[in-house]
Amino acid sequence: MNLSPEMKKQLEEQKKQCVFCKLISGEMKPKTVFEDSTTIAMLDIYPAVKGHTLFMLKEHYPIAPYIPPEDSTHLFGLLPHITKAVMGGIVSTGCNIFIANGGVAGQQAPHFLIHILPREGGDGFFHFFFDKRKAVMPDDKKGLFVTNFPAMMAAHFKRSPAVWHTGSGERSERLKEIASKNTFLYEDEKVLVVVPAKGLVEGHIEVYSKEQEKDFGKLSGESGAHLFAVASMAASALFEGMGAQGTNLIVKSGNSDDNSHGGLVMHVLARFADDSLKDIHWQPKQATYNMDSLQSKIKDKTWNIKVEKVAVSEVRALKPHHDEIKKAIEKMYG
Ligand SMILES: [Zn+2]
Repeated sequence: MNLSPEMKKQLEEQKKQCVFCKLISGEMKPKTVFEDSTTIAMLDIYPAVKGHTLFMLKEHYPIAPYIPPEDSTHLFGLLPHITKAVMGGIVSTGCNIFIANGGVAGQQAPHFLIHILPREGGDGFFHFFFDKRKAVMPDDKKGLFVTNFPAMMAAHFKRSPAVWHTGSGERSERLKEIASKNTFLYEDEKVLVVVPAKGLVEGHIEVYSKEQEKDFGKLSGESGAHLFAVASMAASALFEGMGAQGTNLIVKSGNSDDNSHGGLVMHVLARFADDSLKDIHWQPKQATYNMDSLQSKIKDKTWNIKVEKVAVSEVRALKPHHDEIKKAIEKMYG
């Protein structure tokens, strides 16, 4: 994207202070479990759960809208494979993916990154326990999303006719039920998007994969990239429609104490400085396991991850307008 000279200067200053840039450059030593020319995955030294891994681009981008579409597609296309490897390394039954866009959403460092949290029964992690939902999106807002979200998707695909996002495709029994009980926003052959009847907050959107019912790690690269492209749109819609100051993207997948049915779903949540979602943030704590041994176990699974070619149409579809980026940044960093 085209950054103004002031923005470029600000970014350069940020980079000098960035702990992840220091880890990536080798100034500090990361517990790397995967890397290629543009991405790197490393163990979090203050893990929320055993095997907590951070996956990011080597280049410093503070938030998602800064990221060039090609890099975004590459990162999210690799994500299911990295997740599968991390889960394999600790033999876990489920996983969460967590992304914080903005300080109010729990973003700790200005280097955009993805948290991969492998999950096991009895792991004691209940920050994403979403069963008590009470919030309802107001009807006028809901109406706005019902009209505007499909139009947003159509506009993006119109800018770049995407061959594989045309039909509505089939719905499984599970997705038929989900579509009937919640407010339908959008679907294509890979995803279904709804506003849940009862949400965690008023600005809550759910994205379901049509390819996998439970296992995020089994998604193809193309489907992983598409799932996050659609979720990013949903996050943009929450910025616009709800005036959100930040957003969280949280994937639940497979079995854990807070996801007993094991279903795969992506939650997109609007965040505000004074909201009721503080419980989703965990406190950093020292690892209670041998990190070096875990590092080598995960590396045993990542060494043969192949970089897939993701459809160019998706790359073009992801390209945000400069205005959208500017707006998002202004909202997050004043
Ligand atoms: Zn950085």
